[in-house]
Amino acid sequence: MLHRPMATTRTDSIRRLSSTTASHIAAGEVIERPLSALKEILENALDAGATRIEVRVDRSLDHAFSVADDGCGIDADELDLALERHATSKIATLEDLDRLASLGFRGEALPSVAAVSRLRLESRARDAEDASFVTVAGGSITARGRAPRAPGTTVEVAELFFNTPARRKFLHSGAGELRAALRLLEAFGLAFPGVSFRFLVDDRQRFDWPAAAGSGVEGRRERAAALWGTRHAEQRIEVAAERDGLVLEALLGLPEHARATREGQLVFVNRRWILSPLLAQALRQAYGNLLPAGRFPAATLWLTIPPGRVDVNVHPTKREVRFADEHLVFALVAGACARPLAGLHPPFTVVQGGASESRWSERVAEQPRAQTYLRLEPPPPGTTPEAAVAPSPKAPAPRDGEPELWQLHRTYILAPVRGGLVILDQHAAHERILYEEARSRLEGKQGQAQQLLFPLLVELAADRFDLLLELGPWLRQLGWDLTLLGPPTVVIQGVPTGLRTERPGQLLQDLLDGVAEGSGRTASEDIAERVARSFACHAAVRAGDSLTQEEMRSLVDRLFATSRPHGDPHGRPTFVRLDLDELHRRFGRS
Ligand code: ADP
Ligand code: MG
Repeated sequence: MLHRPMATTRTDSIRRLSSTTASHIAAGEVIERPLSALKEILENALDAGATRIEVRVDRSLDHAFSVADDGCGIDADELDLALERHATSKIATLEDLDRLASLGFRGEALPSVAAVSRLRLESRARDAEDASFVTVAGGSITARGRAPRAPGTTVEVAELFFNTPARRKFLHSGAGELRAALRLLEAFGLAFPGVSFRFLVDDRQRFDWPAAAGSGVEGRRERAAALWGTRHAEQRIEVAAERDGLVLEALLGLPEHARATREGQLVFVNRRWILSPLLAQALRQAYGNLLPAGRFPAATLWLTIPPGRVDVNVHPTKREVRFADEHLVFALVAGACARPLAGLHPPFTVVQGGASESRWSERVAEQPRAQTYLRLEPPPPGTTPEAAVAPSPKAPAPRDGEPELWQLHRTYILAPVRGGLVILDQHAAHERILYEEARSRLEGKQGQAQQLLFPLLVELAADRFDLLLELGPWLRQLGWDLTLLGPPTVVIQGVPTGLRTERPGQLLQDLLDGVAEGSGRTASEDIAERVARSFACHAAVRAGDSLTQEEMRSLVDRLFATSRPHGDPHGRPTFVRLDLDELHRRFGRS
């Protein structure tokens, strides 16, 4: 028997939505909350080339607000058009997005706000004699006329979402939305220092930022001083860098300006305020060990990117963009911001063992480069047993009754096992052990550092130094204790515990080289994987290294405690097994 579909799955035939319903649905995308209406209208004023913008709020944003500008204005006969969907003066074809200089481009904002509010649009074009206005309620024009006004545009928005009760129910509190408006204005203020902004709530002035007189970074500092106070603005560290047509300017907060959230960060791409996890990550890396975990740097970044190399049309409210070359943007920000920060030493790295910095530097300089002194006394109690990595002088002594191990040609370890013999490749086996340890340190608890008795100065090539800036947090997680003195010099104060390395500088270089090999992607898992592999490969004992009985035993024990003892991270075998049966057969015993 055939069942008819339940009527609840589809009640009616397909039909076109009325234009009002359709525009309400579309408006919901663009104008998700009162703040988005303010944002869109401010963007229009800035796109119109305003030099002075005044925002007035009556009680709350959803109750009523207005934005007045002195921009280019709208011709009287284009007022209606400005309120139509997909009507814009900013682009004509899709290709124009590759040359986009404005914040708006979709021609959706005004009609979307008008669809869900009572809106009044009044504007006087520069060459017009007076202003024209239209009033709209829920998308329908209710009045029009002429009014005296200086050139420019005023948009008044009242009773937002009056005709969409469902949306009204989900609004943030009026006060919360007003705080968000202040932050939005702060962002626009920093993106456009040459524009003066005045903000009034219930006729009381909250701020009046004059247009900055200086241009470039001077103007930005001036605006920053108006926003954060002169002292804070002066303390900010300036960054200016350019790479492959990308321009970065930044004002970086001191470590003590760091916050527990990303609130202190503002990122602008071509004057557009965006949210970018990628750039937040780049910033965090730039600060490296200047900040403890859980603190986020305060910083303002201004990126200028040729419009064709950034896609701004990927997000309904335009808060996210897509970079054509993420790696380049990441490297530019992480590298350029880290450079001036490298001059700020965290207090705990400046002085070692009570020596003054200059004496300490001399002592470091006195040490022959290849020779380093590791502190050999056992780690203080409290350190976890996990901190002991094979092979190390601290490895456990052979247990009574356990068979002796042999090293063959300083390359293989021979270990008798029940029913035969296991032959390990000492390098491959150690590589597997170190790889798994590195992965778990990178994913979880930070590795311990074994402090060097004398910090070691290492000089790196420029690109390796840049790479080190990027990798800082990962290396710290592994247990490296490094201070970047500024290109090209790095100080190694500690190496991951348990390593038997006489040359930490060489190991660091090798590690960086290994990571740089075949790089190109920056997803953080890729970095962790590359760091772990390179570290394991270069820190592992090599063929030719002679091993003590204890070191061999520790290596064997730890290999078989890993999750995949059979192969190294490249897939090469770590051991082969020779069965007694096989030997018996070969000797003709069976
Ligand atoms: P978009 O900004 O994407 O072009 P909008 O719906 O926000 O779309 O605005 C439609 C058009 O109205 C704009 O392209 C612009 O020509 C005009 N317009 C809106 N606001 C202003 C303003 N404050 N000053 C001058 N023109 C404006
Ligand atoms: Mg717009």
